[in-house]
Amino acid sequence: MTAPPRIPRPALALVRSGPGPGDDGPGAGEGGGPPTGSPGAREAIIVRFGELFLKGGNRGKFLDAVRLRSRRAVADLGAAVRPVHGRLIVEGVGHAPEALARLRGVFGVASVSPAWLVGAEVTDWERLAVERAKLARARGARSFAIATERPDKAFPLRSLEISSRLGAAVVAAAGLDVDLGRPDWTFHVEVGREAVFAWEGAFAGAGGLPTGTGGHALLLLSGGIDSPVAGHLAQKRGVVLAAVYFDAFPYTGPGAREKAVDLARILSGPQDALDLYVVPFAPVQERLRDGAPADYLVLLYRRMMVRVAEKLAARTGAVALVTGESLGQVASQTIENLACIEAAATMPILRPLISFDKSETIALARRLGTYEISIRPHADCCALFVARHPVTRGRPATLERLERAVDWTAVLDQAVATTETVRVGEGET
Ligand code: ATP
Ligand code: MG
Repeated sequence: MTAPPRIPRPALALVRSGPGPGDDGPGAGEGGGPPTGSPGAREAIIVRFGELFLKGGNRGKFLDAVRLRSRRAVADLGAAVRPVHGRLIVEGVGHAPEALARLRGVFGVASVSPAWLVGAEVTDWERLAVERAKLARARGARSFAIATERPDKAFPLRSLEISSRLGAAVVAAAGLDVDLGRPDWTFHVEVGREAVFAWEGAFAGAGGLPTGTGGHALLLLSGGIDSPVAGHLAQKRGVVLAAVYFDAFPYTGPGAREKAVDLARILSGPQDALDLYVVPFAPVQERLRDGAPADYLVLLYRRMMVRVAEKLAARTGAVALVTGESLGQVASQTIENLACIEAAATMPILRPLISFDKSETIALARRLGTYEISIRPHADCCALFVARHPVTRGRPATLERLERAVDWTAVLDQAVATTETVRVGEGET
């Protein structure tokens, strides 16, 4: 079976929807155009890192991780990735929008730029600057600036000298005026020891920290809108996820489980593969229904979910749980009820959406491509047997008392024992 696309769709949409922050000129990100006419200039893509530089001693590990992820993101396109002066250079795919989009989607990437690798002679750079300037002028630019950086301090010309040489060539050949304050078009040159390249504009990357640098967590993944977004946000901080879905089959149809599998597949993108545990939860729910008041069922379900999840977390090395809960969003998510759920846990429960408005979550779900899956109409297990007006201000002591009246241990162990593991993403069977 062919592997599903590994990068979330939104990144592509972002490229299409226009330049991100830091974009400073026309002409960036078009890709696919004819190769530049300048002899010796080759199209390439520059990838820059963000927060990685804050990481002191761990920096090497973080750079390795983002390099690995960038390489994997574009390997099947035939791209080669190599580090140069604190950035990555991606060659072999020109400015292909697909490559740009995938690289932007890699966690830890601050920005990407379509760029040109040029020869070692200043005349090579002049030629490219003039060629690009003419294009910029044809698109309406009237003023320009040249910005030179010189990571290779041994290079005989200083940044200012390089900028003025290129600037003079542009004024003479393309008829643009110098404006260092608010130029219509900026041509950047980076003179490094391993490579010299030029670029015009940058697209924002996914930011965050590279996958694999943030440890392991287990996501409670329902078929709803929130939990996949919460999972994505945990992944953005470098966390590798496994996921658990509590299946109320036969009370819910196979379509409900399909949703969870399809959502997990999208979440697998940044981390190659993802294990989804499907827990047959109906017997646990039936046991609680028969022994506890209906208005407490949602809270009781949640506490059982946490207990099952912790047992499964031990299998994957996960040290925290992640949920899509948001404070006050629904009755089960009042601060008192969250405290009741938390009281059943021994692991930390991460709630990346805690302060999100629903509209913010939906906007992110749309970008991730999870929204369309989440809104497929299938019942949620938490609606099963529950009262119309669930308790909104539970107390942990009450929940403990109710649980003592129900014999749930064996049925819970049975649910764990009969849990199915579905591997999604790379190597999917
Ligand atoms: P979601 O959109 O993620 O379902 P929600 O706003 O509908 O969230 P609830 O249904 O109350 O909220 O669920 C809160 C959280 O509990 C979910 O975000 C998810 O992490 C977890 N959860 C709920 N139902 C399930 C389930 N069937 N399987 C796994 N996790 C679940
Ligand atoms: Mg839900």
